[in-house]
Amino acid sequence: MYSHKKSEALRAEAENVILGGVNSPSRSYKAVGDRAPVVMDRGEGAYFYDVDGNRYIDYLGAYGPIITGHAHPRIHEAIAEQSSKGILYGAPTTLEIDFGKKIKEAIPSLERVRFVNSGTEAVMTTIRIARAYTGRNKILKFEGCYHGHSDLVLVAAGSGPAQLGTPDSAGVPKGVAEDVITVPFNNLDDFKTAISHFKDEIAAVLVEPIVGNFGIVEPEDGFLEAINEISHDNGSLVIYDEVITAFRFMFGGAQNLLDVEPDLTALGKIIGGGTPIGAYGGRKDIMESVAPLGPAYQAGTMAGNPLSMAAGLACLEILEQPGVYETLDNLGEKLEDGLVDLIDKYDITATINRLKGALTIYFTEESVTDYTMAEASDGEEFAKFFNGLINRGINIAPSKYEAWFLTTEHTEADIEETLAIVEDVFKNDF
Ligand code: PMP
Repeated sequence: MYSHKKSEALRAEAENVILGGVNSPSRSYKAVGDRAPVVMDRGEGAYFYDVDGNRYIDYLGAYGPIITGHAHPRIHEAIAEQSSKGILYGAPTTLEIDFGKKIKEAIPSLERVRFVNSGTEAVMTTIRIARAYTGRNKILKFEGCYHGHSDLVLVAAGSGPAQLGTPDSAGVPKGVAEDVITVPFNNLDDFKTAISHFKDEIAAVLVEPIVGNFGIVEPEDGFLEAINEISHDNGSLVIYDEVITAFRFMFGGAQNLLDVEPDLTALGKIIGGGTPIGAYGGRKDIMESVAPLGPAYQAGTMAGNPLSMAAGLACLEILEQPGVYETLDNLGEKLEDGLVDLIDKYDITATINRLKGALTIYFTEESVTDYTMAEASDGEEFAKFFNGLINRGINIAPSKYEAWFLTTEHTEADIEETLAIVEDVFKNDF
């Protein structure tokens, strides 16, 4: 069993300076026994090393961006080379044009693109554009989908599809929440009810085309197509939040994989190769609502910063090599098969959702297709599982709602080692 003495000692020190000891709430271990979060020292490939000198096989992938493993030499070189030429110019670069072209080629619905610095900014701006373009105010989103921390998307469901939302966070005005309608994912009937109730008030329908924020949940057949058709008939735009999904499952977006096109798309995470990034784009006529061409304003001192452009370009160049996504899928399959065998062998109540190189284990009987089902999965069982793993050398997110992400650096041997550790956890801790 690992000792986490130094991490534990750092907790108080961190909490005295950084609010709550973490720079993002999901990094705290509150949901898994409120223990001290493991403080990482360095990453290399598929591995993390903490301040106590413990090694972990990492499936957190920094919540998604790290698809080529930690400290990938090509990304490191790209950043180092760019930093030797200047970090920030506040002026256009050829790098951002090259990077923009690469993204547009991979996701053709992005007829025009803008780079920003986070997924939050990207989504927030797509909503502003949709409102500017349609002259309407309300947005419809899906229960359990996370779209960053801007006011409008920190809103939870009302009690039915014809109800407006309530703020999910202190500090979000009630008036803002009243512009948000939330319906369950994969529930077309509730979606139709909401659209027919609010009709021409709805500027946009915002959706993670494949959910990553209550685990990996795929849309049921025809769900996204129906959303497109009904939204467009209603004069509402469709926004895909592909902050997690873009370049996760294939070289392109979930929209390429599923063959459905939104009007606007928000990107982030993987496209920055691990550096801060976001991007949004879509139909040219809609994008032309944005300054300097149109009346909707969006700007950023750091937007399109050369380090993120260089790192992102290097990351996409690695990912476009033949066989990358097949390998991720094969590793994902091996991991899933092994986990399913162990769940059976030790009679654990759990189910797995996997799509290619990403999966979620839910401690529940039924297969999970919406947020309510994910929510109903057993948090205490998950906490036991998480603690078993982190005490033996596997790092996953400390939340039952997150995914395991494979990287190009994981090997079959890593999967075998992972399964041996999981077996030890099931055998001794459950
Ligand atoms: N959208 C989705 C689907 C996300 O998963 C996230 C972050 N987890 C965001 C938006 C917000 O991105 P960021 O944390 O970069 O602001």
